[in-house]
Amino acid sequence: MTRRTAIVTGSTSGIGLGIARAFAAANHNVVINGFGDADEIEQLRAGLAAEDGVEVIYDNADLSQPDAVGRLVAHATKQFGQVDVLVNNAGIQYVAPVDEFPPERWDLILQINLSAAFHAIRHVVPGMRARGFGRIVNIASAHALVASPFKSAYVTAKHGIAGLTKTVALEVAEHGVTVNAVCPGYVMTPLVQKQIPEQAKARGISEEAVVRDVLLAAQPTHRFVTVEEVAALTLFLAGDTAGSITGAIIPIDGGWTAH
Ligand code: NAD
Repeated sequence: MTRRTAIVTGSTSGIGLGIARAFAAANHNVVINGFGDADEIEQLRAGLAAEDGVEVIYDNADLSQPDAVGRLVAHATKQFGQVDVLVNNAGIQYVAPVDEFPPERWDLILQINLSAAFHAIRHVVPGMRARGFGRIVNIASAHALVASPFKSAYVTAKHGIAGLTKTVALEVAEHGVTVNAVCPGYVMTPLVQKQIPEQAKARGISEEAVVRDVLLAAQPTHRFVTVEEVAALTLFLAGDTAGSITGAIIPIDGGWTAH
């Protein structure tokens, strides 16, 4: 079988990086994307390619810009001929009460966490449909299923991506293309590390109490979900044997949304 190509947005850090690693290790060419120090990203790119004997390219698209999303897909297509797997993972967070929530943060969260997925999907779907194969995995969140206070923009965007997932799944179902949302609970990444002081401020409690009483209290397992667990589920959904799983909103949250 020829090697498949996967775009993983927001893959210079955290969950996206773990997903990029898993796809490279499973013999995919990978397009990585995201912000960070140029030298570190180049080391990461070269390391992934060398470890796994696959081709890895980097695209610096700022996903808050619709045109940049189009250029990212075009870059991947030019390099590899086609895009077989799209993982919409890039995301940001901001925590504040709704009446103090900066409107520009609201806009940015919706652009990156929701609209970028729409733009990437609309660019990859025609090729996937024509070839009769494609896998789209949206990294949503437990917050696609339930809310938490002080995260109005994030929860709105994640609920939105659940709707986008189901809608597109219906549109492409007969063409060998699946669309699913993976909904992690808390994973200890820079995105979560950064919100601990913000949550402490919004709730008027210590940072230790945020981890114990807010983050891990939500998860019956009382441990963080790991990047490797999310990456393994994403890779499974991208494989041939997952062809009948589509339009699914799949929690991987230590039992959080079973409450
Ligand atoms: P992270 O901060 O470690 O990584 C985010 C990635 O997105 C980075 O590579 C960053 O450079 C990139 N990014 C940010 N803004 C961008 C932009 N404008 N254009 C391009 N790239 C951009 O975060 P993470 O925790 O790994 O989160 C990844 C995804 O998983 C997000 O969608 C997040 O909502 C979701 N998620 C995370 C958790 C968690 O607990 N960490 C839980 C549920 C869902």
